[in-house]
Amino acid sequence: MLKTTTQRAKRRILNKTILYQKPCKQCWETFRPTRSNSQKYCSVECRTKVQKKQVEQWKEKHKENGGSSTYYKLRFEIFKRDGFTCQYCGRTPEDGIKLQIDHVRPKKHGGKYIPENLITSCLECNCGKSDILLDAEQEKRFIRAYSGHSVK
Ligand SMILES: [Zn+2]
Ligand SMILES: [Zn+2]
Repeated sequence: MLKTTTQRAKRRILNKTILYQKPCKQCWETFRPTRSNSQKYCSVECRTKVQKKQVEQWKEKHKENGGSSTYYKLRFEIFKRDGFTCQYCGRTPEDGIKLQIDHVRPKKHGGKYIPENLITSCLECNCGKSDILLDAEQEKRFIRAYSGHSVK
């Protein structure tokens, strides 16, 4: 009995001390959270604004990839073409890796989301490569390897 009361009291103190002021992630005005510190925005307006923005970004991304169903379909076709094997290190999901799609020529450098420029990669290889531009020879090796073997 005593324990629960102290716990409750403790929690109350904790709540009070923990709720510190911080800047709103949307408008950067300092505010004090009313419920918990996971509150990121000062108001409902700010939160809605952010959510709307995220939806727009998501739509933008999928538009760029030709709509989500085409996106996933192509993604799977690439995996299939590459024999569900990371083209950089040769591992397969049986080796405990997760397959991803990598742009041979990074998007940042004008690489397109087309079969010729896409390659099956594992998380490690993909992260390691990131936006690194391969030299012309290496790029040719990966890009040319599949020309004439295009995916519908
Ligand atoms: Zn705000
Ligand atoms: Zn790999």
